[in-house]
Amino acid sequence: MSDDAIRFDLPQSAIPTAWYNIQADLPRPLPAVLHPGTKQPIGPHDLAPLFPMDLILQEVSQERYIEIPEEVREIFKLWRPTPLLRARRLEKALDTPAHIYYKYEGVSPSGSHKLNTAVPQAYYNKKEGVQGLSTETGAGQWGTALAQACSFFGLECVVYMVKVSYEQKPYRAAMIRTFGASVTPSPSNTTHAGRAILAKDPNNTGSLGIAISEAVEVAATSGGKYKYALGSVLNHVLMHQTVIGQECLQQMELAGEYPDVIVAPTGGGSNFSGIALPFVHQNLTNGKHTRVLAVEPSACPSLTRGRYAYDFGDTSGMTPIVKMYTLGHDFVPPPFHAGGLRYHGMASVVCELYDQGLIEALAIPQLETFEAAVTFARSEGIVPAPEAAHGIAGVIREALHAKETGEKRVILFNLCGHGHFDMSAYNAYFANELSDYEYPQEQIDAAMANLPEVTF
Ligand SMILES: *Cc1c(COP(=O)(O)O)cnc(C)c1O
Repeated sequence: MSDDAIRFDLPQSAIPTAWYNIQADLPRPLPAVLHPGTKQPIGPHDLAPLFPMDLILQEVSQERYIEIPEEVREIFKLWRPTPLLRARRLEKALDTPAHIYYKYEGVSPSGSHKLNTAVPQAYYNKKEGVQGLSTETGAGQWGTALAQACSFFGLECVVYMVKVSYEQKPYRAAMIRTFGASVTPSPSNTTHAGRAILAKDPNNTGSLGIAISEAVEVAATSGGKYKYALGSVLNHVLMHQTVIGQECLQQMELAGEYPDVIVAPTGGGSNFSGIALPFVHQNLTNGKHTRVLAVEPSACPSLTRGRYAYDFGDTSGMTPIVKMYTLGHDFVPPPFHAGGLRYHGMASVVCELYDQGLIEALAIPQLETFEAAVTFARSEGIVPAPEAAHGIAGVIREALHAKETGEKRVILFNLCGHGHFDMSAYNAYFANELSDYEYPQEQIDAAMANLPEVTF
């Protein structure tokens, strides 16, 4: 590679052939997942109404590598391997000695990393003979990705979209419909869960937790025709995303460097895990010392201000109870502009790594993230998704710190999606209509009072 290279591309033959499963290397096993009714540990058969058995087995697998089916790799060729770029113009704009690299997942046809798991999830459901999938979406990236993946495999698809995002981002809904899926603003009157919430609060703007309740209800009451798909949080979803970090390991080698710090935004933890876990593997087994930094919004700070406790994954208490850093399952975040980061909890794997001190976390307020997004767009030419901009804001803090200390810090981050459907949020930013939200401690405390009581 020449000294001034900015782009590190891999051939299609370098698409990973297996997913990396960090469960094989965790210093202690993940906490048990509990049944929402009995509050006892669940087994694979308890999940069978919602997920196909191949995915359930991946969820609990302790194997270090799980082979990626050839049919899935064939579809990955539409956009993978994704490029790794060196952000030389951003480095110059910040006047930092740091070297900044970014993996660009926005080149996928759906515009974010979500297609990496939507394709295998649709594949395994099709293989099991399912007719269609139900799901929720916040900002719309996951709904788009699952609608695309379902259309590739001839599956029906029903999407519940958080109402505030549905109204902020009408073109995401149009894109989801383009791929043949239906999309309903949530809470809706099409499910018991949605009707119960609307009866209490007709103006409810929705949350991921509520949309999950609606989507789960559709699958659970379909008599087996429909299963449910989740775009983040679950172990198998995080594992599917590890193609990102595995490619980065090869690409950093092409660049002749190794990251001192990896930065990624965290909503449910999947893009963060995708880029970070293969490097955490190197930390755990190969004597490497990369710092790993999860960046979350100050308005939805599950890792930095939540409690590590057993809680429901959804608002109505239909999903299994999982130990996670949570703001409470009935937490309704303020309608800030990063719909993909508005989840009350966090992936179990990310929580365990955080609890064990193997990763760091940081919360950043909204205005700083949009400032970072604009700085990035003007130097690198890509308009980032507001979610991804949280990572960029974290990168800029790292790069400016390296400037203070005079270090040549190598920073790698996940530019997990573009912001082409988020331009109304950018407009609001330019019109000075956005503000910072700190979630009030009393509201966090109130939501904590409703955590389920368990004896684990
Ligand atoms: C969904 C999404 C997120 C948040 O989900 P994670 O599972 O934490 O990755 C962040 N950024 C983008 C672009 C997304 O689509």
